[in-house]
Amino acid sequence: MVKTPSLKPCPFCGGKDIRFSMKIDGKHYHVIRYRVAMYCNKCHTYGPITFTEEVLRTNYAGREAIKKDDAVKVQAENLWNGRATNETPHINEH
Ligand SMILES: [Zn+2]
Repeated sequence: MVKTPSLKPCPFCGGKDIRFSMKIDGKHYHVIRYRVAMYCNKCHTYGPITFTEEVLRTNYAGREAIKKDDAVKVQAENLWNGRATNETPHINEH
């Protein structure tokens, strides 16, 4: 199990309603990756953005696996909390 870090309040408005955002970041026609970040639901400020591994657009199983990978969310949460390290976690290592 991946431990979820507790999120710091928004540095801009102090809001505590911090949410996870994952959107398709179209790169090439046949390959996509997801753009992930935490954001404040009060002032809509986004934390540092990170990207998942690339996956074939038609690989629905692979896309679902990425969406369900807790490591992706934990990485975004760590970035939000400003605890990013030089170490890049392997987010698609199955
Ligand atoms: Zn805010």
